[in-house]
Amino acid sequence: MSTTDATLTTPTGGPSLAQERRLVTSIPGPRSQELLDRKAAAVPAGVGHTVPISAVAAGGGVVVDADGNSLIDLGSGIAVTTVGNAHPRVVAAVQEQIAQFSHTCFMISPYESYVAVAEKLNELTPGDHDKRTALFNSGAEAVENAVKIARKFTGRPAVVAFDHGYHGRTNLTMALTAKSMPYKSGFGPFAPEVYRMPASYPFRDHLTGPEAAAKAISLIEKQIGADNLAAVLIEPIQGEGGFIVPADGFLPAIVDWCKANGVVFIADEVQSGFARTGSWFASEQFGIVPDLVTTAKGIAGGLPLAGVTGRAEIMDASHAGGLGGTYGGNPVACAAALATIEAYAEEDLAARAREIGEILTARLSAVDDPRIGEVRGRGAMIAAEFIDPATGAPAPELAGAVAKAAIAEGVIVLTCGTYGNVIRFLPPLSIGDELLGEGLDIVLAALAAA
Ligand SMILES: *Cc1c(COP(=O)(O)O)cnc(C)c1O
Repeated sequence: MSTTDATLTTPTGGPSLAQERRLVTSIPGPRSQELLDRKAAAVPAGVGHTVPISAVAAGGGVVVDADGNSLIDLGSGIAVTTVGNAHPRVVAAVQEQIAQFSHTCFMISPYESYVAVAEKLNELTPGDHDKRTALFNSGAEAVENAVKIARKFTGRPAVVAFDHGYHGRTNLTMALTAKSMPYKSGFGPFAPEVYRMPASYPFRDHLTGPEAAAKAISLIEKQIGADNLAAVLIEPIQGEGGFIVPADGFLPAIVDWCKANGVVFIADEVQSGFARTGSWFASEQFGIVPDLVTTAKGIAGGLPLAGVTGRAEIMDASHAGGLGGTYGGNPVACAAALATIEAYAEEDLAARAREIGEILTARLSAVDDPRIGEVRGRGAMIAAEFIDPATGAPAPELAGAVAKAAIAEGVIVLTCGTYGNVIRFLPPLSIGDELLGEGLDIVLAALAAA
């Protein structure tokens, strides 16, 4: 087939899309290149991209581009299409809702689907205490609102975030995010009263969970004082920072200290939530019950939606009109969320995430290559940290080269990490074993060749 074949038709997305890796051009092909040229002329350079294609359809475990290439998806659009792209339930729910009404503004004329999503989140998030949920549009907006809610409840100003943490790109969430390049550099000044503490990073700090917690708590007490502290905000498994799983006992010790000191503990589950790690929320795996939980990414099969769920007394402390937004809890996004949550439950996707985790961990751990410093993560949120074997120093060039080579071979794989030296695997839970295995083969071949 000629690469500029005018008869090339756009396939329909969803799980019925041919589940295969298929390269009919180099990446990018001519049609994709055309879009990238238009992008460069119309969209600012600050909005980057990792995979140089023009996506036209996606589903199951593949993304198809405008040239007819079919790429294996090990990224889920950054842990968003966890149920799979164009999931039939989500497609049907969205179509039905958009034909009914697309917007009233929940703060003007409420509708049922928003309340139903709130009820679901109240039920599914950890803890059986009385809860409330408010809906927003993005993870950053959820985190901003969690901080607002905690400040209003406590009457205190300070917020603790952690080293390697990522919470978004708005002004407050830039302040809460640890890494300067590319998220913050040149975009300040940042919001005040944000304090950064060392996180638990067993591969690099060699501390037990209780030791790492004691270190952070001692710094909090000395530098801030509990009386001034509204909230401690942390990702139970740090995402952009490198899929860092804290040592056992770290999170429970922080939660206990918060409880003893009237500080609101916020779990940012924007990346780790919704079956991704093999349970509804990663917090469950560490035995913690957060006061507030922020959610987004995997919540609605790709539609923009986010939530703050938490203890009723904390959530209800904000005055009427203090929380919300024009689009927050949009009815189409809420319909998608209800369908997505149903899919997680009915297809037992948490179990599928655990299976995928076992496959990824077994394959990666079996590789005899001293440049892999650590394989870690939970469920379908697994990463390999690359190092210089001689010194243990981070090897970001290697991670970048492996990802780039894999993409050129038709496998979408993402990097992350404070040092940029981590390859992360976030496949949609709708991917088949064969495709997952082939994707891994290609990533590992790229590593061997690098
Ligand atoms: C992606 C992410 C955010 C920001 O979400 P956006 O929807 O991009 O605003 C916040 N926290 C965590 C942990 C994330 O992974």
